Amino acid sequence: MATPFIAGNWKMYKTVGEAVDLVRQLRKEFSKPVDRDIVIAPPFTALYPVAKVLKDSKIHLCAQNLHWKEEGAYTGEISAGMLADAGCKYVIIGHSERRKFFNEDGLKINRKIKTALKFDLRPIFCVGENLSERESGRTFIVVEKQIEEGLINLSSDDIEKVIIAYEPVWAIGTGKTATPDQAEEAHRFIRNVTARSYGEETSGKIVILYGGSVNPENIGNLMDQPDIGGVLVGGASLDVETFIKIVKF
Ligand code: PEP
Repeated sequence: MATPFIAGNWKMYKTVGEAVDLVRQLRKEFSKPVDRDIVIAPPFTALYPVAKVLKDSKIHLCAQNLHWKEEGAYTGEISAGMLADAGCKYVIIGHSERRKFFNEDGLKINRKIKTALKFDLRPIFCVGENLSERESGRTFIVVEKQIEEGLINLSSDDIEKVIIAYEPVWAIGTGKTATPDQAEEAHRFIRNVTARSYGEETSGKIVILYGGSVNPENIGNLMDQPDIGGVLVGGASLDVETFIKIVKF
């Protein structure tokens, strides 16, 4: 089994002081080598202070968004170079909240993924259907379109660095988790879609995460599924004790 990848998305929560306090506790807990890739995504203001606390630790830093342009007159935006400079190794791209509230479409997401890769940031690229799409039997059509648009013109080398997060929108922040079978079915589908473009071997190397109301009780069954390589955790990553339990599942 590959090393489980556990990422916490803090969304728009935590001041600098709260963020630093949480990562100090995490760092202490995981001071000895652990068979997990642990990644946390604080808000922008906390990235650099958190990076200083995490220096030389096994916990890696992730941003929640970036702009696709390398620099320029884009008031309020943040570039891939700035994130890398602040200590980030990963960046979440195409989260459903950004698709919904900030009109992110496939073209913008594809540009962001390419820019992230150029600056050695590994994208955590989110896809997933909403409730009406699932109920009308369109889950696979929607997910396939999101994958194809997001990954246009990426080389095989690039694609291996992309982490895909399957996050059914109806399961995000709702307390409703996809069953392990539902999640595995979608993950297998994603694996097949990427195999069609990049071949089985490359597709087999892609880390695919599940996200949507993951907690210490449901992570074990999700991680038993062969195509689930890890989880992207929102709400439950904000409490250090709960997140530690998830990491140690
Ligand atoms: C998320 O924000 O990516 C997420 C999965 O949130 P939650 O765990 O709260 O459902």
